[in-house]
Amino acid sequence: MRIRKQIWDEFWRLVGAADRIALVTHKAPDGDAIGSLLGLGLALKRIGKRVITACHDPVPDKFRFLPGASEVLQSPDGIAPDLLIALDSSEPARTGRFAGLINSPEIDVLSLDHHPTNTGFGLLNLVDPDASSTSELVMDALEAGGLALDESIATCLLTGIVTDTQAFRTPNVTPSLLLKAGRLMNAGAPLYKIIAGTVASISYIVLRLWSEALRGVRLEDGVIWAVEPLEMRKAIGYEEPGDGHLVHLLLSVAEAKVAAVFRMERAGEVEVSLRARPGYNVASVAREFGGGGHILAAGATVPGSLDEVVARVLPLLKAEARREI
Ligand code: 5GP
Ligand code: MN
Repeated sequence: MRIRKQIWDEFWRLVGAADRIALVTHKAPDGDAIGSLLGLGLALKRIGKRVITACHDPVPDKFRFLPGASEVLQSPDGIAPDLLIALDSSEPARTGRFAGLINSPEIDVLSLDHHPTNTGFGLLNLVDPDASSTSELVMDALEAGGLALDESIATCLLTGIVTDTQAFRTPNVTPSLLLKAGRLMNAGAPLYKIIAGTVASISYIVLRLWSEALRGVRLEDGVIWAVEPLEMRKAIGYEEPGDGHLVHLLLSVAEAKVAAVFRMERAGEVEVSLRARPGYNVASVAREFGGGGHILAAGATVPGSLDEVVARVLPLLKAEARREI
């Protein structure tokens, strides 16, 4: 699907009418969340808007090199924009403590997203599930609005594209995306530096977490999974949300059709990260547990102990991996 010119015109009409614009992305932000947030933020500042950028969690260290990363706010206190644009967030709750602002009847909300599970919570929903990333959609928005790229904007957007496609390795990479990446490089975005600093890099502490988690890795009926108990994370001293995407490594195992990592970041609930090879669908499994995401990359936060959540989710993953494709 592509977003029609008329819809982009409506987007730019609403942006044009607003003076103070708040941009908000999802909690536990990844490169696309931060790249789309900062890229659009810089572009709107260039056309004279008063912009604030916000996220429930701090910008992860590996994205701190991005221009504007140090200005991202973590609290909604005192924010009263004319317009709020939610980025890469399929529903208000994904933005954590900014959900209240999104749900406030006084604030006009636009949703710019590429999740097929987007609930359509905005006044205008610019949702393209075929887009590789929300950052690619921001680039579409800028091109539709006739806004020029510069090195800073291009660096943010290419970071989002590179991280969401794992450096152009996902099946949603199209010739058109590669041409867009070329335009971003022409504008000054450093592709090698972005790849080397993001998808091709993990910290030593993440490697130690993986090595612990991999002791218990299992492969059954095409499903590969590993667990990260709270005690394991604590013993290693790993405090950040997320885990550096162990689930990608698991899906690279040739025998696996579906991969899962179950991690306990807080007592009482389990974060489930799911990935599938093309032809299988983990978004449907995530949805069964109140989560969401994309067909090939989805997740959910499920109440319960690790054992309970694994016991509930695994049968659905095995059923998915058994499907004839
Ligand atoms: P990850 O495994 O990288 O944390 O998440 C993969 C995808 O699943 C992301 O696109 C993200 O939007 C979605 N996702 C992860 N966790 C949740 C969740 O708790 N709720 C929803 N709705 N989506 C999630
Ligand atoms: Mn994304």
